Amino acid sequence: MTEPVAAPLHPVAQELAASQGGLKSYPPVERWEDWEEYDPVAWPQKVKRRYSLIPTICFNCEAGCGLLAYVDRETLAIQKFEGNPAHPGSRGRNCAKGPATLNQVTDPERIRYPLRRVGPRGGGRWERVTWDDVLDDIGGRIRKALVEGRQREVMYHLGRPGHELVYLQRVFHAWGIDGHNSHTNVCSASARAGYAFWHGMDRPSPDHANARFILLLSSHLETGHYFNPHAQRIIEAKARGAKIAVFDTRLSNTASMADWWLAPWPGSESAVLLAMAHILVREKLYDREFVRRWVNWDEYLREERPDLPVEFESFERAIDELYRHFTPEFAEAESGVAAAAIVEIAREIGRAGSALATHIWRNTAAGNLGGWQVARALELIVVLMGAVGTPGGTAPSAWNKAVPAPPMMPPPGKIWSELLMPREYPLAFFEMSFLLPHFLREGRGKLAMYFTRVYNPVWTNPDGMSWIEALTDEAKVERHACLTPIWSETAWFADFVLPMGHASERHDLMSQETHAARWIGFRQPVLRVALERTGKRFDFTWQAHEAAGIGQVWEEDEFWIELSWRIDPDGSLGIRKYFESPYRAGEKLRIEEQYRWMFENSVPGLPEAAAKEKLTPLEYMRKYGAFLIEDGVYRTHEQTPPARELDGATVDPTTNVVVKGGQAVGVEIDGRRHIGFPTPSRKLEFFSKTLKAWKWPEQAVPNYIRSHVHWSNLDRAKGEMVLLPTFRLPTLIHTRSGNAKWLYELSHTNPLWLHPEDATRLGVATGDLLKIATRIGHFVDTVWVTESVRPGVVACSHHLGRWRLHEDAGGERWSTALVDLRRLDAGKWRMRQLHGPRPFASADPDSSRIWWNEAGVHQNLTFPVQPDPVSGQHCWHQKVTVTRPGPDDRYGDVFVDTDKSFEVYREWLALARPAPGPGNLRRPLWLPRAFKPDVSAYRLDGE
Ligand code: SF4
Repeated sequence: MTEPVAAPLHPVAQELAASQGGLKSYPPVERWEDWEEYDPVAWPQKVKRRYSLIPTICFNCEAGCGLLAYVDRETLAIQKFEGNPAHPGSRGRNCAKGPATLNQVTDPERIRYPLRRVGPRGGGRWERVTWDDVLDDIGGRIRKALVEGRQREVMYHLGRPGHELVYLQRVFHAWGIDGHNSHTNVCSASARAGYAFWHGMDRPSPDHANARFILLLSSHLETGHYFNPHAQRIIEAKARGAKIAVFDTRLSNTASMADWWLAPWPGSESAVLLAMAHILVREKLYDREFVRRWVNWDEYLREERPDLPVEFESFERAIDELYRHFTPEFAEAESGVAAAAIVEIAREIGRAGSALATHIWRNTAAGNLGGWQVARALELIVVLMGAVGTPGGTAPSAWNKAVPAPPMMPPPGKIWSELLMPREYPLAFFEMSFLLPHFLREGRGKLAMYFTRVYNPVWTNPDGMSWIEALTDEAKVERHACLTPIWSETAWFADFVLPMGHASERHDLMSQETHAARWIGFRQPVLRVALERTGKRFDFTWQAHEAAGIGQVWEEDEFWIELSWRIDPDGSLGIRKYFESPYRAGEKLRIEEQYRWMFENSVPGLPEAAAKEKLTPLEYMRKYGAFLIEDGVYRTHEQTPPARELDGATVDPTTNVVVKGGQAVGVEIDGRRHIGFPTPSRKLEFFSKTLKAWKWPEQAVPNYIRSHVHWSNLDRAKGEMVLLPTFRLPTLIHTRSGNAKWLYELSHTNPLWLHPEDATRLGVATGDLLKIATRIGHFVDTVWVTESVRPGVVACSHHLGRWRLHEDAGGERWSTALVDLRRLDAGKWRMRQLHGPRPFASADPDSSRIWWNEAGVHQNLTFPVQPDPVSGQHCWHQKVTVTRPGPDDRYGDVFVDTDKSFEVYREWLALARPAPGPGNLRRPLWLPRAFKPDVSAYRLDGE
């Protein structure tokens, strides 16, 4: 079964010429200022209309695709959004969500003015206030907390990210707080952790367009991360003959287009990947020279195999022995994937050589206990093939991103918040955000000021009823401001609802690892730009929006500058100076000055490119909306460190790490110095000394951890199954698409996928109802009987089930069901849908044409928190009992017991292995952490 292939392409695979995948036809840039086309609405008459085409960046997912807003030169209204052909990542293309930005801008239901609650929190009564009222209230509270030494009581919780990440690092470091809380541990922390233990950077950046073999664990082409930029490059590779294999328990759109669809039992993917890795090792299909040079095999031998000489040949023997029990037959028994397919794919990977593009993001990594080891196992295959940063290979993300430095970066504060990074989870890759209600319930702290920013934890997170309980407790959360473009379930429980702009209504910088290049994209407030081109001037973007007729919708960048001045009006707290103009001493920073400074000083090549067109760098970015800094970025680890870093540096005789001033700056290999990887060994860490030292010695090498939903944990006779709730719909995006009418016309149901064998056992057909019970409650949904999912597994998209509590307020009526939410008893909650979307009267005639009447079912409410003890990721997959509903059960019903959810939290907490680690530290110093505090805050001394 496992004879070697005749002619492996190693050690160096043939490198393919870069593909050219841009659009063939689009408005030429020189005519963007005055573009003319016929009005489609006037057809069959040929009525010409003239537009300014103003670039910006889509805000709907993290991919950061370019958009071109067609602004009518006469009315100054946005007519439509199309792709920006000058954008290096998206190359003029968008998915359905990009053009639907127009719906978000023109939605008659959108929030137009700052609102303050009246009456009890969650009561649903609001009054309009001014931005000054808001800033004075919040600024005063934060100032008081800072002056009184309550820095840990100021917290910001982020959903949709962007380069506000660096922007806000500047803000929060200036305030001296450790208050940045992200959504990442309900999203991607697990895969990120797996990558970081390998190479110190937290994502893969596949060079799909040039790949010979594409191996995807998730459904990236159609429904996953980096949807459009990756999808278009995968399609190019496929057209050029690349093979594609997709692991997904459910037949995703991507899998349906692949050469192999592997549908493993959820959580068994590592077993399959390690079996493939072992075939590569045993059949000597791997890139021996790459592994010898770049893997920390010597460290592994010294620590784990003292019986062997520290020689590469010993490592080859050791790794063969280590994975010998991962036979294709063992993997088949664990996963249900045929052994023959495992062998066939491993050999195809062997033939692809270093042109192997891979990706994993949510899906199995985010679903399973130990999901981070799936990323470790996948990257083992990439490393064995020498496909790290090669043409057609898989690079670490940071090599393909650009993060321009802002003016004046404050030093980090000396504060550590255990509400964000508790000592139980020293290796958690991001903040333990989804446990906040339980931390507050346990009395670990309180919040004087809590911001949610484009984030909807009540709806998005597991255990949303516990969030409602926490957010309505004013002793625990004293002030809650929700910065949001649209209504959300969480906004309902805020004190302030603050309207923030969509893609075309804000400034921001984006840069993502879409391919082997580094670029930046510039998000800009299109209507403000259009108005300013007519000679008008505004201090704030909300003033421009008011002039444009969309109310006082603001943008966060200016909000934080203004708020920082309110916190420290006279500069005595040392905060204000970071928000003063770099061009006008002592004056308040204007947002265009911030970007002007960054484009002039922090983007290599941009000033020169702008000068060629007789533009300033800011004018260049306003015109094109994007800039390609570097193309064809490959093998960054091989580069020599800068001479200034090597001057006076020494080489550790055991590890060959190049050290200067106590800091590793590179690694010496075969007598040459390279920058390597940002790991302790500066190499790819097959063996993680960090995991061993921090109490996880059995997981120090890529391994297979049996998931909490492993088949052996299920009693099928009792109706127990696994629920996969992690997949997206390609046309929706969490809360943010809630006011995009075109998208909800396309997708408005999330039925339960059920295999025909299980349907027969349960006696149901498509359209029937089923009741799905978790540890803490249940929900009721309709069934879709399909062979697209494994027997024993059910699947339900998390992109639907939006709800509102009042008929006319609190949720966009395109997307939400009206519900009755009741607390039946202490901790016992029941939600029942009263009706789904219906036609309604508004300024938009489409609102009277709503024909769909379902909003889907909100399953996440019924999930307990299940934090992985290493990565901190919420393990989304659920062991459920699936039964026919009773006479009182109705479509969309949800029941939850929050006391039980607290019990489950405590059970999972008991799996953790808390700090301190070596040196009495809370967390390894080298391990990435967003908004890293000062080193002194890492020590547990003196507490
Ligand atoms: S993939 Fe779609 S939603 Fe994401 S940024 Fe691009 S156009 Fe927007």
